[in-house]
Amino acid sequence: DQLPADPNFENSRRQVMQGYYSFVTPKETAKPELIHISDEMLEALGISKEEAHTEEFLNVFTGNAVWPETHPYAMLYGGHQFGHWAGQLGDGRAINLFEIDHNDKHWAVQLKGAGETPYSRSADGLAVLRSSIREYLMSEAMHHLGIPTTRALSLALTGDSVLRDVMYDGNPAYEKGAVVCRVAPSFLRFGNYQIFTARNDVAGLQKLVDFTIKNYFPELGAPSKETYLKFFAEVSARTLEMIIHWQRVGFVHGVMNTDNMSILGLTIDYGPYGWLEGFDWGWTPNTTDRQHKRYRYGNQPNIGLWNLYQLANALFPLVEDAEGFEEILDRYKEDYAQKSFQMMADKLGLEAPQETDLKLIADLEDCLLATETDMTIFFRKLAAFKKDASVDGWNLIEDALYDLENTSEAVKTQWKQWFEAYAARLQQDQQNDEARNKRMNATNPKYVLRNYMAQLAIDAAEKGDFSLIDELYQVLKKPYDNQPEYEKWFAKRPEWARDKVGCSM
Ligand code: AMP
Ligand code: MG
Ligand code: MG
Repeated sequence: DQLPADPNFENSRRQVMQGYYSFVTPKETAKPELIHISDEMLEALGISKEEAHTEEFLNVFTGNAVWPETHPYAMLYGGHQFGHWAGQLGDGRAINLFEIDHNDKHWAVQLKGAGETPYSRSADGLAVLRSSIREYLMSEAMHHLGIPTTRALSLALTGDSVLRDVMYDGNPAYEKGAVVCRVAPSFLRFGNYQIFTARNDVAGLQKLVDFTIKNYFPELGAPSKETYLKFFAEVSARTLEMIIHWQRVGFVHGVMNTDNMSILGLTIDYGPYGWLEGFDWGWTPNTTDRQHKRYRYGNQPNIGLWNLYQLANALFPLVEDAEGFEEILDRYKEDYAQKSFQMMADKLGLEAPQETDLKLIADLEDCLLATETDMTIFFRKLAAFKKDASVDGWNLIEDALYDLENTSEAVKTQWKQWFEAYAARLQQDQQNDEARNKRMNATNPKYVLRNYMAQLAIDAAEKGDFSLIDELYQVLKKPYDNQPEYEKWFAKRPEWARDKVGCSM
């Protein structure tokens, strides 16, 4: 609320030993140009369309002007990266501008890619057009998928060039610089709490936890050891909820380090994320994680739990009750089993799930793994199955298979048997086919931001054509609806795009 007596406006990189944030000034850019604005976020923040087209808006949301009487700052945080404590990290290329209260909602507004901060370490504090398009489109798309996420207000070119190792050939090259304005109720991460404990600053930790509860979890009550445990339980529940959503739609975050885990259970930091095309527990979009595959699709729920253990360690000095934490962490495992089962039952459109459905689900997963099967297309096509088995299941899902010709007879038989079991199971539910179809289409998205789709938008944008960004933005607003005008985006990944994954830099 109040500025310290001696505000430090230095952006230069350093170990910040005392404070937990630093005032910084966003970098002026050569020729800022807005490429896209989210009309929904404008409305959420109470900014009119007219205001959005002013010079002032352009300058503020690209870091070229600071809103009067605000004090942009970067936050310090720590974190575990790929399983190892990494010490001081922090907002290396994010700058918090200000906070806005509108329609009973509280929003923190930050720029990503607006220049160096004390936490930039060896990097430049900048972002390139490619990664900015990916973050901008994906965070809004996640929101429309019904998945807790940070949001995005605007995407802009800076007019500056940024040096990067290009993802496909590894040779350094200049790319177009960009800035995304991100918005969330709070950008606090697990790592914000961890850094206090790592520095033995229990008083500071308590201050931050009390602040978090008061502002974001007021229903938990006044600060006490009991409240702190409830807080941890709530963060645990939200984290699990978020990850179950990811598993449902086939989203792989790619860098689930504790500094990329939001205390509010929001999906945050869209870097090398990707979508399952062929269903595969072992898949990761992160090319730097191809050896251990720590952040692979099938491991995301475990990593969520691992990260919560780290948060428990960070909060421990406030509670000093190991059993209390363990109980909550055990509950995560139980809730995971129950919620992932319910999620899969929903995907299959089962009206009244029963224990024997576990086998139906496991057998389906075996089929999906037996031949490369597009997860998104499979579940949408499956919705048209009939409980009297009058539609041939195999024909129905042909479009979802990447290598139909080379699918063996044994695998076809395996599928055939599964469809028989599915038909038999559907007959036990009261609901008719239409009701099941509706149930399934509300949980299985039709349109997701496949990597190649983002790549097409990026390639066009590099040449100055931003129309595909808008087209994808529009189609991803209604991911569960049939949108005949956008049918071309309900398609398997083309072969040229195989194994070309995104990049976070
Ligand atoms: P990430 O793995 O993207 O979550 O980033 C890990 C850390 O590196 C965070 O502290 C980021 O702020 C920082 N970082 C990533 N990219 C840059 C960049 N281009 N310039 C400065 N810091 C960065
Ligand atoms: Mg990060
Ligand atoms: Mg990042």
